[in-house]
Amino acid sequence: MSYTLTLQCGCVVYVSCHPQTGVAHTRIIQARAAGCRVRRHDVGVRLFLWELLPEPVDRSSIDWNAASEAGA
Ligand SMILES: [Zn+2]
Repeated sequence: MSYTLTLQCGCVVYVSCHPQTGVAHTRIIQARAAGCRVRRHDVGVRLFLWELLPEPVDRSSIDWNAASEAGA
C-alpha cells in the first residue's frame, strides 16, 4: 500500500503505508523538481512527516527558538 504525492516545491515523494493500519511509515523523495530550492530534497532521502506539510496544523506547539539554539 503506497502512493506518491507532490510537495509545494514540486518534488515527488513516495509514501509507503502499513497494510493494516494505513499509517504512512516511509517517505522518500522519488523525484526532485528542477525548481526545488530545498537542499535536503534529494532522490532517495527520507523525509519526516512535518517536512511534507507546508502548513503544520499547530505551528505554535513547536518551540523554534529552542530548536535553533540546540543546532547552533
Ligand atoms: Zn523539493
